[in-house]
Amino acid sequence: MKAALHAKIGSPLVIETGIEISGPKEGQILIKTEYCGICHSDLSVMESLDLTPMILGHEAAGIVEAVGKDVASVSVGDSVLMSPIGPCGSCVMCENKRHTLCERGQSFVFGTFPDGTTPFSLNGSPVYQGLGVGGFAEYTVLEERNVVRIENGLPLETLCLLGCGVQTGLGSVLNTAKVTPGSTVLVMGLGGVGLSIVQGARIAQAEKIIVSDPVEDRRSKATQLGATNTIDPTSSDLLGEIFELTDGAGVDFSFDAVGNSDLIAMGLAANKSGGLTVIVGAPPPEEELKLPSALHLMMTEKRLIGSLLGSCDAQKDIPAFVEYWKNGSLDLESMISHKYTLDEVNSGFDALKESSGVRSVIKIHEK
Ligand SMILES: [Zn+2]
Ligand SMILES: [Zn+2]
Repeated sequence: MKAALHAKIGSPLVIETGIEISGPKEGQILIKTEYCGICHSDLSVMESLDLTPMILGHEAAGIVEAVGKDVASVSVGDSVLMSPIGPCGSCVMCENKRHTLCERGQSFVFGTFPDGTTPFSLNGSPVYQGLGVGGFAEYTVLEERNVVRIENGLPLETLCLLGCGVQTGLGSVLNTAKVTPGSTVLVMGLGGVGLSIVQGARIAQAEKIIVSDPVEDRRSKATQLGATNTIDPTSSDLLGEIFELTDGAGVDFSFDAVGNSDLIAMGLAANKSGGLTVIVGAPPPEEELKLPSALHLMMTEKRLIGSLLGSCDAQKDIPAFVEYWKNGSLDLESMISHKYTLDEVNSGFDALKESSGVRSVIKIHEK
């Protein structure tokens, strides 16, 4: 089958037609992948992870082709979304409802199933399954817990965004931060995750949603999706404007959707006493925090928290997010700016690097 391979650090993906796939084994599902969004974490892996060859793409949707022994939640022909982290439901973390910290769920970092195997191979050698999904391939095999069944007939080219970017953004608001009605929110960075945070804040009935991004198009997209105030951080005193917009009070919640220590520090500075700053974007591995003084944090009771995949339980949250889309409170269509075929996947990464548009979606099969 055909797939786009991460073959060398810092290089574009390579289209390879000789990939073999095995499975599904017990508890696994073989999926014909239909669509996969391009997420910034794919680019981070291409630029920094020397675990090759690897099939990236982790924001995917498709149709069940075959199920392994003991799979009960889906049948052949079902429409499914795929999630990079699937909670096992029975470890200590899952029992404490910390599903993204599931002891069996984080093998995605290593590109294999928890037992160290991968479903993909090329000329007899293993090919890693990047970020737990392997969505830039015509078929993939996932464990049942990473696969979420949705109603058949819904548009997979739209709903695939729920796999990572939207799950991360909405979840960071609703699960990690638990934004409250009437609160003030700051969102820094307006890619797919940042715009999902904006929509989450609107759904959570935040009163003021202030957004900051250097790209004008993205700021106007944020306004369309629920932002109440926009700031261009390149041409204005960001912190000064935030305090002006909040009558000198600062914000209740600030979100860094980029993964940048300057923005995290900005979030802490912009918070009210008792406010919460959430790290949602994935920072580079070497990025260190720049914190205010310990006394300042002690006196203000400001809080700083990380959010991995929106602290979501994919099996419970993805169906809830599909309902938001169905009832019109979640706009996914406006977030898709580019569509490409699998052969054109590197054009999608070029768009991402140039901050052109918001999200690119790859159509995996030609026909
Ligand atoms: Zn992602
Ligand atoms: Zn678990």
